[in-house]
Amino acid sequence: MITKFIKRILRRDPMIKHTHGNHSGAPKRIPKKSHRIDPHLLSKNAVKVTQTLQQAGYEAFIVGGAVRDLVLGISPKDFDVATNATPDQVQRLFRKARLIGRRFQIVHVTFFGKGHPEIIEVSTFRALLDNAGDHVAESGRILRDNVWGSQGEDAARRDFTINAMYYDPATETVLDYHGGMADMQKKTLRMIGDPAKRYREDPVRMLRAIRFAAKTGFSLDADTRAPIAKLGKLLQDVPSARLFDEILKLLMSGYSWAAIQGLRNAGLHHGLLPLLDHILEDSAHSQGANAFVKLALANTDQRIQSGKSVSAGFLFATLLWPDLLQNWKANLAKGMANIPALQDAMDDTIATQSSGMTIQRRFESDMREIWSMQPRFERRVGRYPYRLIESPRFRAGYDFMLLRCATGEVSPSLGEWWTNFIAGDPTTQEELMASAKNEAGSSASSPVKRRRRRKPKSALPPEGAPS
Ligand code: ATP
Ligand code: MG
Repeated sequence: MITKFIKRILRRDPMIKHTHGNHSGAPKRIPKKSHRIDPHLLSKNAVKVTQTLQQAGYEAFIVGGAVRDLVLGISPKDFDVATNATPDQVQRLFRKARLIGRRFQIVHVTFFGKGHPEIIEVSTFRALLDNAGDHVAESGRILRDNVWGSQGEDAARRDFTINAMYYDPATETVLDYHGGMADMQKKTLRMIGDPAKRYREDPVRMLRAIRFAAKTGFSLDADTRAPIAKLGKLLQDVPSARLFDEILKLLMSGYSWAAIQGLRNAGLHHGLLPLLDHILEDSAHSQGANAFVKLALANTDQRIQSGKSVSAGFLFATLLWPDLLQNWKANLAKGMANIPALQDAMDDTIATQSSGMTIQRRFESDMREIWSMQPRFERRVGRYPYRLIESPRFRAGYDFMLLRCATGEVSPSLGEWWTNFIAGDPTTQEELMASAKNEAGSSASSPVKRRRRRKPKSALPPEGAPS
């Protein structure tokens, strides 16, 4: 009955073209007792999507990273479904379904539950393309690929063997076309097909390799790793918005520090991403920058691993802080006043970034807010602290200031003061402000202030300036 249905679909839909049939080799069928996927880790909505599609006569599977994570026993952060129904056919089956994208036309099926709405991404099996014709750029990069195909072809065009497994919740069976399960056991990340060719088709796969290796703790198979050194430069041809998305995923993976080490080891740094340059290069400036950025990333990883949210604006504010500090200090040395010097440094820092990967506007305004708040933490008298607390992004600014304390850039006593101030009742707050006033009046004992006093009077930075 199902085969009859598929034949009908294939005949009816002119979009479905088959390329060579040589990739439709039979998959390994892995039963529950071998893959041991815990059904409790499944998203009910993803299961509902596969059921609805199957009841309408189509094939449907949970696929990709979700299956990889399920086999690892990790709860997947999102679920993708692959089907032989075309995007239009999928859309007709669900009330809240939207067609997305041009390069990859997919359907977003949205479910509204108690918490956040959940989006299940449904994509149609895609065909492999010939390495010729107008779909492929000169470098080998694939430009357009909305050509539907069989499940076998769909599997062959995925990136890594562990990302090319299909799970059917109805039968609790995993279909494995490329030995993904064996690679899971060997803890190996292996590119499907000829790695060099696959990186040429889509250079972002090199970054994905590093990200998944960091996330799973798997090693890159030797043949998968080898071409990266030579092909890394192809990342420069990738549109900056896509590069940005991938770097964001890498930084938000919960394993950002490991991933950045991976980038360095793979030689994927060199003007590639100005944002990461000073973390990846070993210059004198990078030493101090490293301490701050390392702490920020460790902090981010910890938050993500414990299920807390992280704002991208905050993350980029930390990564660019060392550059910003340098620019700020340079402006002060030129005789600019503190706040204009900071504002100007923010413009410079952001402009320099735009030469590589463009940071999106919404993150940019978050970054500016977090940075502008920093000198305000030094003003601890009168109405200032109360006003600062009321800023909408106070929490982010405060967390940021705590990072600066932790690396010794500002005195840890400043962080303690604010922590007590936030928690304190009005009387405690008054006392804290009085103590801050005394501290400012008498000879303060923080290392920052002591260093300042050694400078000639004319070079004294104003309150709150970087030292
Ligand atoms: P994550 O945990 O980051 O979501 P993921 O493996 O699910 O990891 P996605 O970017 O969500 O990654 O992609 C879903 C699936 O689509 C992948 O598992 C892979 O099979 C396929 N895929 C994604 N990007 C590529 C690519 N650049 N080249 C080939 N296949 C890809
Ligand atoms: Mg995914």
